[in-house]
Amino acid sequence: MTRTLFSLTAALVGSSSAFTQSPSFSNASFCNAPMTRTMQKNTLLPAGTDLTRRSFSSLSESSSSRSSSPRHSMLFAKEMSTYDIDTDENAEQSLADNPITNGANGQPSSPQTVNGDAGNVANRYSSVLESMDLNIPSLKELPSQRQISSNDVFCNRELRLDNIRAIGFDMDYTLAQYQQPNFDKLAFDGAKEKLVNSLGYPKEVLDFEYDHTYWVRGLIIDTARGNFLKIDRHKYVRMAYHGFSPISSNMRKQIYSKTFNKQPSFTEKGYVNMDTLFQHVDAHLFALLVEMKDFGEHEFLDERTYEEIYRQVRECVDLCHRDGVIKDEVARDPEKYLVLDDGLLPMLRQYRENGIKVFLLTNSYWEYTSTAMNYLYHEKKVDEETQKKNEWTELFDLVVVGACKPAYLKDPYLNLFRVEPEDGSLKNTDGLFEIEALGEGGAEKFLEMGKCFQGGNWNHLQAMLETTAGEEIIYVGDHLYADVLRSKRALGWRSCFIMPELPEEMRIFNSQVDLRKSIMQLRSLRDELGAYADTMRLEMTKASFSESRAMEKKIEQIEEDDGKIKEKLSEAHRQYHSAFHPRWGQMFVAGYQDSRFGYFVKNYACLYTSKATNLGLASAARAFRTSGELLPHDNMLSRPSTEFVDAEVE
Ligand SMILES: [Mg+2]
Repeated sequence: MTRTLFSLTAALVGSSSAFTQSPSFSNASFCNAPMTRTMQKNTLLPAGTDLTRRSFSSLSESSSSRSSSPRHSMLFAKEMSTYDIDTDENAEQSLADNPITNGANGQPSSPQTVNGDAGNVANRYSSVLESMDLNIPSLKELPSQRQISSNDVFCNRELRLDNIRAIGFDMDYTLAQYQQPNFDKLAFDGAKEKLVNSLGYPKEVLDFEYDHTYWVRGLIIDTARGNFLKIDRHKYVRMAYHGFSPISSNMRKQIYSKTFNKQPSFTEKGYVNMDTLFQHVDAHLFALLVEMKDFGEHEFLDERTYEEIYRQVRECVDLCHRDGVIKDEVARDPEKYLVLDDGLLPMLRQYRENGIKVFLLTNSYWEYTSTAMNYLYHEKKVDEETQKKNEWTELFDLVVVGACKPAYLKDPYLNLFRVEPEDGSLKNTDGLFEIEALGEGGAEKFLEMGKCFQGGNWNHLQAMLETTAGEEIIYVGDHLYADVLRSKRALGWRSCFIMPELPEEMRIFNSQVDLRKSIMQLRSLRDELGAYADTMRLEMTKASFSESRAMEKKIEQIEEDDGKIKEKLSEAHRQYHSAFHPRWGQMFVAGYQDSRFGYFVKNYACLYTSKATNLGLASAARAFRTSGELLPHDNMLSRPSTEFVDAEVE
């Protein structure tokens, strides 16, 4: 019996004689993680290795052409992506995803997308309805095509809104969206000034220009080496830059590939995850300083490690958020920095009308929160008298500022202070003891004394919300670690992750769907050819001399074909990723796997969407559904051109 697993489509292989007999798939190994055939020599460079201008040229093919001047926009297109070195190096990997439909939430996105064409809808579902003996009259109400909008809310974990008792929102980059790069430049310019005038950095730092387009979320900053990394979900470094210069494949592997004794987890001291858009400022300033240290002639920088420079960048940027550099300027001209969204107030009111408690939980302090929220509430800059009234607080059951997330979500000893809205002054509270001492309805009585707070911890919040079940709270935020991962992992809260970058990612993905399909088909073909050649190699050991010679020739042909496909695949893969971002590629994908960022979004964000107000497009009765996930063996079997071989039966 011919043990054929795959019935190959004519489009893929034509009449290639190599496939008259396909390899057995019944005892195949399924692969989730990439495996390299050749282990690299293992010479992990020590953290803090100073890759100065004397040694740095060995790191990068293009470093010699760079200078420390801020002219990166011009160089942008010329830079070589490091995808070329990675493409398809891990040919053993089977395909494990199908993101064209991943994340779709099972519901039409909004009423205006419905355009009604009953005939086509019937065609889309007629086969399944017939086989299940179902008559569905409401089918004719659906649009002819499933509309996927960039305003949709996508679902990783089933969630019914009617089970939710409280919904909380972060403020910065969640309720308050900022105009980039205007807002970022406040911190960037403020930090430059502090570095030069307070810490003695070279005056040339003041000439640095900010360009947020260099950066994407989800990268990791190796502060000890001055490197920027994109890693996949298995912590394999797929791409690396030193400052703005690509690091060669060999060097990257020598620094970061796993060893038998030590594999970086990228959570160690010295690694910083870029989990929020705020960090684009840190990244750009640090990369410019890395270049200045490497290529400039500045004794001041020669005496400092990359790690020290990063720490000082972080301190200066952080100070800008606290000392008025940002706050005062936003208060002076909010139109320039904040984005108004007319869906905000109706959404918040809708939740409260449906009996869901609404809270604000932000790390920003009162003065800035009051400035930003007053602008969003009144949709204009307000005078001092109106500002003091803080009418926006009517949107919330309670407000917590200066929350110190993620500590707020794990440290039970942080004290709770009540804020006097008119002047921002603080009063002590006895927190849980006080609520308890107030007896029945203690939480309500406690909030009647004032519902704006600073600090505290999740125990206070849950007591004030009168819930002990994390599952009843959904928190909406833009910080992947502090807002999403921490709240879900530590407290079991449901989470909604806000990604302003999502519409652009979806737009590009949609334009590249055909190219992606071709890439996936070529990958599949390579995988299949490799498996077939492998079977033949095993059979050669039992074959006669003449049969063995014939097989050898076939294997040679397969290897030649594989080389041709690999070359084409490399170019297609580079083209695909470059469409998303010329340096970092697709945000959710690293190589052919989920990026660390994509993996975290999948695992920790119950829901994700481009902006908080998209939640207002869902009614309180909405059930969000996942689109289903398959492991490689089921994923491969679900493709139309495959055939299952039951090894037990054979
Ligand atoms: Mg935020």
